[in-house]
Amino acid sequence: MSRCCAAVLLWALAACAAPHRDDDAERLVVLHFNDLHGQVRPRAVTLRPGVTQPMGGIAGVFGYLDRERRATPARTAVWVTDGGDWFQGTPEGNEDRGWSYMAVRNRMRLRAAVVGNHEYDFGEDNLVRLIGRAEHPVLGANIRVAGGGIAPYVVPFTVESVGGIRVAIVGLITANTKNVSTGPFGRAEFVDEIDTLRRLWPELRRVADEVVLLTHCGLTKDVQLARAFPELCLILGGHSHTALLEGHREGRTWIVQSSGKSTAVSRVVLDVDRRSRRLVVRSAGLRRIPVAEADPDTARFLAATFAGIGPVWDVPLGRVEGVPDRRARGAPGSTPAGNYVAEVIRRHAGAEVGLTNKGGLRSILALGPITRRQVFELLPFDNSVALFEMTGVQLSAVLAHGLERGRQPLEVAGADYSFRVVDGVRQLVAVRVAGAPVEPNRRYRVATNSFLARGGDGFHVFAELTHREVSPDTLCAIVLTDLRERAVIRLTDEPRIRLVE
Ligand SMILES: [Zn+2]
Repeated sequence: MSRCCAAVLLWALAACAAPHRDDDAERLVVLHFNDLHGQVRPRAVTLRPGVTQPMGGIAGVFGYLDRERRATPARTAVWVTDGGDWFQGTPEGNEDRGWSYMAVRNRMRLRAAVVGNHEYDFGEDNLVRLIGRAEHPVLGANIRVAGGGIAPYVVPFTVESVGGIRVAIVGLITANTKNVSTGPFGRAEFVDEIDTLRRLWPELRRVADEVVLLTHCGLTKDVQLARAFPELCLILGGHSHTALLEGHREGRTWIVQSSGKSTAVSRVVLDVDRRSRRLVVRSAGLRRIPVAEADPDTARFLAATFAGIGPVWDVPLGRVEGVPDRRARGAPGSTPAGNYVAEVIRRHAGAEVGLTNKGGLRSILALGPITRRQVFELLPFDNSVALFEMTGVQLSAVLAHGLERGRQPLEVAGADYSFRVVDGVRQLVAVRVAGAPVEPNRRYRVATNSFLARGGDGFHVFAELTHREVSPDTLCAIVLTDLRERAVIRLTDEPRIRLVE
């Protein structure tokens, strides 16, 4: 037997023989993160207006988990959980469609992970391949096979024992997954979260004393779940990238979620009450991950795993000039990057109007030299450009749709529009194309990204019209070509979405 094989065998024997250390636990510490999106490297975080600082990174998360595990007093169990959206969003995460990244995740010794919507971005087959590499339970109670039972690549829940109390960890993904991921989804169907839990509840009561949810549904849905199931002890959330600094409480139920992208980890401390066979939350909070506390072993492992990435992704290709950008998501009006991307879409399609969704802009364009990585981080999705011919009435309907409650206004180029707010409801006031009022019956050439064109983000208005794909190039590739040709991206804060009285 080779030394390597012997080492593997010894490791396997040790793993089997290790006593279940959690059996005598009196306390449980849950370290939870969500929406890492492959954020291997630290990331600039805006702490307050004008002040940004690099935070986090996977080596930083490892450093934190390691310190917590080593500092844990006797009779305390530590669980680490992942609330979904594991890899999609960086060159490292997307390298070989998440395969290398799964090896990084395995080093975290996760107790469980839930599937996030972006796990489907390279298709269901790819997700099945990645799950084959996962060394932890992968949960998804509401992922069903069309016309059948639960999808064969996930389990609905896992039961862990801590201090003699049986704890079911149930995984739920947003039922809205098909609207917020590109797919293809294969045979997967994403059914209602509350209905799923209701159906599962009698079984959970049989096999467990406590129920914890590990969700990728967003805070609003987590609150609904907590209200529908007041017996729940804890919801470990994800998807909405909400930084819950001290957790959120609904009756007995605590909800935690971290902002995502490896900059923070949620920490929950629970007492194990053997008499009542309950877990009692003592505290819930959020730990920021400082860059300085990165684990050096992990940093070396990451450097070796992703050695080929730097020379391709981190070389300056041109410059960003003009006005400083700001985050598009959550911004009510047009943003510099939104103006730019909508214009690139318009120009690439030879259209009169370019439109894009704020949710598809995943970072900002910082002034100064720009690399392929920064373009990719802005536009990580495999979306191409689609061209429509639509009437002025249809164009107005599309823009009005983005103003509805719970949606975000579309970024635009070649046109501009205004809205007012009446009783908390945003109403479209006027649309202009190339400076002239939109003509209701004229046909306009309107381009957008293929995600919206298929009805993504709830834009069913697009899906009802016919379109053609302009080219198979992704938006990221189109911007890179634009950058190669012009060497400069010039940002403008021209107000193309205006609030009027
Ligand atoms: Zn998500």
